[in-house]
This record gives sequence, structure tokens and C-alpha cells, in this order.
Amino acid sequence: MLFDTHAHMDDHAFDPDRAFLLETALPQAGIGLLMNPGCSLASSRAASGLSQRYDYIYSAVGSHPDAADEVNDEVLDAYRAMCRENPKIRAVGEIGLDYHYEDIPRDIQQRAFRAQMELARELNLPVIVHEREAHQDGMRIVTEFSQVMGVFHCFSGSAEMAKWLADRGWYVGFTGVLTFKNARRALEAAAAVPRDRVVIETDCPYMSPEPFRGKRNDPTRLCRMAEALAALWGVTPEEAEFITFENGKRLYKIDN
Ligand SMILES: [Zn+2]
Repeated sequence: MLFDTHAHMDDHAFDPDRAFLLETALPQAGIGLLMNPGCSLASSRAASGLSQRYDYIYSAVGSHPDAADEVNDEVLDAYRAMCRENPKIRAVGEIGLDYHYEDIPRDIQQRAFRAQMELARELNLPVIVHEREAHQDGMRIVTEFSQVMGVFHCFSGSAEMAKWLADRGWYVGFTGVLTFKNARRALEAAAAVPRDRVVIETDCPYMSPEPFRGKRNDPTRLCRMAEALAALWGVTPEEAEFITFENGKRLYKIDN
């Protein structure tokens, strides 16, 4: 069984065949659990709805750095209310910093990140952190919230940073980048993290693994990430699936 710890099944890319994927293709591909994070208030509502409809889907609420300018008291209150009403919301996310495009100014991103870290502390939930080209500020802000833990998803930092996070109790999420020809940096980072802190994800519809790079991604391809970790760890793919499945359950406090 596989746990896709980060999949945007609410994304419009899945409008044509979402029901087929969720009801048939994903269960057939061995997806036993799936975390659908939110990217905005609207997508958090959609994610929450999917987790209410499907047993194996859990969800998170939060505003991505691309939507950081929507974060205000009303939006935070809406997230609080959703968490009260739906016990399958298991995290605040995805939240964080993205300095790659910088459509939203850095100070607005940082304010939204801190406000949602504070929300996670208040609700006693883990966080799903999106951090791209903002390693120093990302590490600085998480150290301001010592009680808040979670996962750095789609990890793009160094092996040193991965170890720094794991030493502080964080999980580190790896995508199809593990299968790319230039995967060395991601594999070195994965090798620096204790096995009980590594989770895998598709981040679909983005980040398709080889040989599907550039095409719409979906969770049926998650087995490729387990295979890459199995090769790294010197274990069978089934063992890598089991280890990362259990890690995902621990991260999001799911017992089943
Ligand atoms: Zn994402």
C-alpha cells in the first residue's frame, strides 16, 4: 500500500476524470491513503469536500505562498471553522515561501506563513510547508515556532538542510524528482534523512516522474518514488512502500 502524502486531486487538471481516478484507478494502483492539501480558501474547501467523500482521502487547509495576499482574519476564521467541522482535516497547508516567481512580495508571504504557523500551533496540527528558493528564511521562520512540526514537501534543499529538519523532528517529502536524470541532489538529501522521517508524494498534477516528465501527473505513478527509495536504501520496493506509508500515518496522525 502506498500513501501519497501530497496530491492536488481538487485541481482543475482532474476535472475530466476525477471520479474515475479516485474510485477506480488509484485503489487499483495500491494508493491506500492520500493527503490533499489546500492552496487557497477555495481549494481548501474542495480538498475538505473530497476527504468527506472518500474514506482514504485526508485533507489540509491553508493558503500557498502564491495566495498569501488572501490571508486575513476572515480566511483564518474560515480555516478554524472547517477544522472544527471536518475531523479528516489533519494539517495546515500548504503554506510557506516561494521566491522563484515572487508574484507576491516576500514580506506578504512571510506574514501569511507566520499567521498560518500560529494557526497550526493553536489547532495542534502539523503543517505542510512549501519552500522554494527561500531556504534561509524558511528555516528561520520554522525555528520561531518550536512546537509546530510537519513536513517540508517537494524538498529542494541540500542534504545538510534535510538533516537539520529531521534532527528537529520534521518529515521531508520527496517527489518524482527522485527519478530524474539529475536526481543526485534529491537522492543525497533523502540519504541524509533517517528512514522514519521520509515521505513520498506526487504533488500531482505537477512533478511527473520519469518517463512521464512534463505530462500531467497522478498518484498511480507514486510507485516510482518508492522504487527510487528502495534502490537508495537497499530494500525491496514493498519495504520502501511500507516504511513511507507508516511515516505518512505518523506525520498526519492517522491510525487505520
Ligand atoms: Zn502542492
